[in-house]
Amino acid sequence: MECARWKQIEAVRRPFSVLFLLLAGVLLRPAQPPPAPAPPSRADILRGEYGPYRANNDLLFYHLDIRVDPDRKFISGKNTIRFRMLKDGTRIQLDLHAALNIDKILLGDTRLEYQRELGAVFVDFPQTLTAGNVYTIEFYYSGNPVETGRFGGITFRQDASGHPWINTACEGTGASLWWPNKDQWRDEVESMRISVAIPNSLVDVSNGKFIGKTDLGDGYTRWDWLVQYPINNYDVSLNIGNYQHFSDRLGSLPLDFYALPEDLDKARKQFVQAKGMIEAFQHYFGEYPFQKDGYKLIQAPYSGMEHQSAVTYGNHFANGYLERDWTGVGISPRFDFIIIHESAHEWFGNSITAADISDMWIHEGWATYLESLYVEYMWGHEDALKYLNAYKSKVRNTQPIITPRGINRSPAQDQYFKGALFINTLRSIVNDDARWWALLHDFYQHFKYRNIMTEDVVEYFNQKTAMNLTPIFDEYLRHAALPVLELKFEEAAGAVSYRWKADEPAFAMPVRVGAKDQWQIVRPTSEWQTMKTPLGKDQFEVATDLYYVNVSR
Ligand SMILES: [Zn+2]
Repeated sequence: MECARWKQIEAVRRPFSVLFLLLAGVLLRPAQPPPAPAPPSRADILRGEYGPYRANNDLLFYHLDIRVDPDRKFISGKNTIRFRMLKDGTRIQLDLHAALNIDKILLGDTRLEYQRELGAVFVDFPQTLTAGNVYTIEFYYSGNPVETGRFGGITFRQDASGHPWINTACEGTGASLWWPNKDQWRDEVESMRISVAIPNSLVDVSNGKFIGKTDLGDGYTRWDWLVQYPINNYDVSLNIGNYQHFSDRLGSLPLDFYALPEDLDKARKQFVQAKGMIEAFQHYFGEYPFQKDGYKLIQAPYSGMEHQSAVTYGNHFANGYLERDWTGVGISPRFDFIIIHESAHEWFGNSITAADISDMWIHEGWATYLESLYVEYMWGHEDALKYLNAYKSKVRNTQPIITPRGINRSPAQDQYFKGALFINTLRSIVNDDARWWALLHDFYQHFKYRNIMTEDVVEYFNQKTAMNLTPIFDEYLRHAALPVLELKFEEAAGAVSYRWKADEPAFAMPVRVGAKDQWQIVRPTSEWQTMKTPLGKDQFEVATDLYYVNVSR
């Protein structure tokens, strides 16, 4: 998804606001560290922890089969859940928002007992489920889901011409807001079927390949979709509305587009950008991850979301982000931010997925970095650097990017912009573009369709570069502040001393210094070292557009 605080940040970019905030900050109160994060609630732990009743099983398949009544804002149906037991046990944990009713849970003909605690549903089996065996249960539910969270989670709205328009976007809140599932990030089904019955006049666009529709004879039609790859819960999506469809192809990849009739012409024009985007990302990382399912772009009433193979779009059919120059340096207006950013998540977020929300920079830092790769592919490296470095104005450096694990705590916005600037810093450390492109490609290929943690990323980069990058990853991802390159000039002696001031004691990162276009690479550590330079304090530069660091001189 895109960053939650973008609107506020944009406001702060205005010179008057900056002045006002500076004055308010200076005059009204001294600078204070951010408040300590609140301890996790029971609900956070139930949602976030990969506890024994989740860890004892491995998801294989969901068939979500529901009926959606737009007038009553009511959902009813079932999720058929297939899983393999990894340990013997009599209980598993699933999740369903407390506002929804559990009608029954069946194992074959046996009605299972269950216990609800907040959003968790502990399902009990009369006999031990044995490790290695596969079981299928049917989880029947119904009710009026609540609208909550930034994009509403699930919304029952009407379009401008009065047709029902129902959409889901539940990344933060969790998919169990509107359907029962094992609502965590570590485990994904291998494939999924989505069946949605809706009034005959409407269209449902969900994830995966369109299988067909069936008139149920009671005023409702069932739309069937098949997801042929692993999918994370929050990506599972409903888009029910008066959609018009048009299609295209990129080689053998089907491209399907859905927009409301009044916006169809604008969509035909704007959605052309999907092709160049896919070409750019295929160039760097390899084949579009969900080839058999196709790529879809679907109009939605909110800005956008990376729903797997069914990216939702609400960026006003205009370039930039919500019609603004998003990074403020004249490059954003050349492309549609939502098409590029949300689709980048097909590679990072949907194909490669973080195994805990704590490590969500694997989605957002990388998707933001991929924006700059798109710029580089289309307009060259210089513009990519300009675009990326303009993100510095959005970085706070007040909290680490990685949050505590197991408590469903979303990282702060630095995971986007600082994450991307950190990845660009890694490129400068590798200092060999041919090697960098191969590394990125192989990194993606190695981990595609898997759920990973930061440790996996670090281990891979360490191994492939034969460098110890662990302290560098830790400095940028596990501490709030940026590393500072300290410089001490002895101009009479024609020398400068340098060292890193960083939170990681072993932090040692090469960096380019001296004169632009004639950079010298130095290898500072936490100890002072000295180099000769004819450059004085005012001429001596540090390549801060290639390495995201602060400099004190
Ligand atoms: Zn995103």
